[in-house]
Amino acid sequence: MHYSLLVPVYNEAQNLPQLYQRLQPIMDGLDGATELVLVNDGSRDDSLHLMRELHQKDQRVCYINLARNFGHQIAVSAGLQFVRGQAVVILDADLQDPPELIPDMIALWKQDYQVVYGQRIKRKENWFKRLCAYGFYRVLAYLASVDMPRDTGDFCLLDRRVVDVLNAMPERNRYVRGLRAWVGFRQTAILYHRPPRYAGEPKYTFTKSLSLAINALVSFSRVPLRLATYLGFLSGLVALIMFILVIYWRFFAPNSPLAGYAIVILAVLFLSAAQLITIGILGEYIGRIYEEVKARPLFTVSEVCGFEFEENKS
Ligand code: UDP
Ligand code: MG
Repeated sequence: MHYSLLVPVYNEAQNLPQLYQRLQPIMDGLDGATELVLVNDGSRDDSLHLMRELHQKDQRVCYINLARNFGHQIAVSAGLQFVRGQAVVILDADLQDPPELIPDMIALWKQDYQVVYGQRIKRKENWFKRLCAYGFYRVLAYLASVDMPRDTGDFCLLDRRVVDVLNAMPERNRYVRGLRAWVGFRQTAILYHRPPRYAGEPKYTFTKSLSLAINALVSFSRVPLRLATYLGFLSGLVALIMFILVIYWRFFAPNSPLAGYAIVILAVLFLSAAQLITIGILGEYIGRIYEEVKARPLFTVSEVCGFEFEENKS
């Protein structure tokens, strides 16, 4: 198998026929055996039925039927366990990721890029969603410990080596775009205009998007855990200034109206600093536990060279 197209599907019966129609000529035009892997993420509409029909019509279509709705990121992760291609393209079922870009992505893959991700120059969605997405990708890029490309969704091409690394990552809270960035290898962007949904309602509600965003931040940044420490130091700094003021008022301006409160404020500031810093220390240890539990590989290797020689000698 040369190429796999992976599509997560949740209640997309209105889009599947059109999706297949748009993908078919592209699959025909590719220079190797191609499979279209549909992951049915517990759809409650006709999607599964349509998948069966497509499979009967075209042997290149395979599907995985998840037992219930597990969410987009898990559906993609599930599909990655099944795809057989040397290059895997992940795209949405609603035709927001133009299939016509697939040959261009493959051309870049042939130029030895292991990850080609779609980057949106413009998206045609309501202003609120665009604003949230704009803010989110920038905050994440700023806070994340790995370099996160902005305005990129799950639309991408992955080399087999990258797929194998992703499959080997045992982490349960999966933010696929983040993991993809974490993996490394040679990555490049392909710019595109993101059209609106072909049909149907967006499956990402506001709460689902928010939980995706929180998951992304928590999975790829330690800054939130350090918040207590930072606040603690800030509080400590203010306590120090207060301390100097208390001394000053005590000896040089005993009649200042604030002199009486000052010692109480100082005590509060000092205690809150002590508490916040202690919480921060707990956070550091919890962060370590979290890192260990995520059990990401320590490194990913894209090439080794010269080891054969040693082997031959012995
Ligand atoms: N999707 C899924 N499971 C879900 C939600 C969405 O498999 O629980 C699929 C959906 O069918 C689509 C893709 O994920 O193919 C992206 O969903 P959507 O278009 O709603 O997201 P948006 O484009 O609004 O970010
Ligand atoms: Mg969509």
